[in-house]
Amino acid sequence: MNIILLGPPGAGKGTQAKRLTEKYHIPQVSTGDMLREALKEGSPLGLEAKKYMDQGGLVPDEVVIGLVKERIQKPDAGNGYMLDGFPRTSGQAKALDKILEQLGQKIDHVVSIEVPSSELLGRLTGRRTCRACGAGFHLMYDPPKKEAICDKCGGELYQRSDDNESTVKSRLETYEAQTKPLIEYYQNQGKLRRINGVGSMNEILARIQAVLE
Ligand code: ADP
Ligand code: ZN
Repeated sequence: MNIILLGPPGAGKGTQAKRLTEKYHIPQVSTGDMLREALKEGSPLGLEAKKYMDQGGLVPDEVVIGLVKERIQKPDAGNGYMLDGFPRTSGQAKALDKILEQLGQKIDHVVSIEVPSSELLGRLTGRRTCRACGAGFHLMYDPPKKEAICDKCGGELYQRSDDNESTVKSRLETYEAQTKPLIEYYQNQGKLRRINGVGSMNEILARIQAVLE
């Protein structure tokens, strides 16, 4: 099963993708995670990507298309995959359709996680992640017992460098202008499955599972 998770920054795509990979045993393919990984390794690609990410803009299409094309041909993606944060522009969506055609594959469902835009800024700026184990917290919705310390492993919590208020505002504008039109693109392909993204993480997971099964 090949799935795309679509939605604005802060919709909870990453959180749900992680849970869905456990249920369906297909990997999460997150372009954001791949770019952050490249940056951590200090690769030229990562350093180049950081310029766009820190401004809340998008990394050029050719770059992310290349990453995804390579990633979905790895052995662990043989039974399917879950694209998280890709495609994000109509150029990426069209390139993906071409790649899938070449590979003899298709997307089964495009899960669009919908959250009112008024809620997104607070969700993103309150987000914190453990440096040691990667666990996610939220200062308001899922606060750690001790500020800046991970409940699970005692590691240090940090804020992603693009989760500050001004970068978040740019990311939301980028989403409206460049990514939102993909909803219609996939609606026209008959693949769009709209999910209400307001509720507990378990409620939203159940809604997604209901449309996948
Ligand atoms: P979020 O969905 O919360 O904005 P991501 O982790 O998916 O966060 O992405 C972080 C940043 O990485 C984006 O703001 C963008 O700069 C870059 N990025 C991720 N995926 C793509 C993509 N498909 N195309 C272009 N840039 C991307
Ligand atoms: Zn931890």
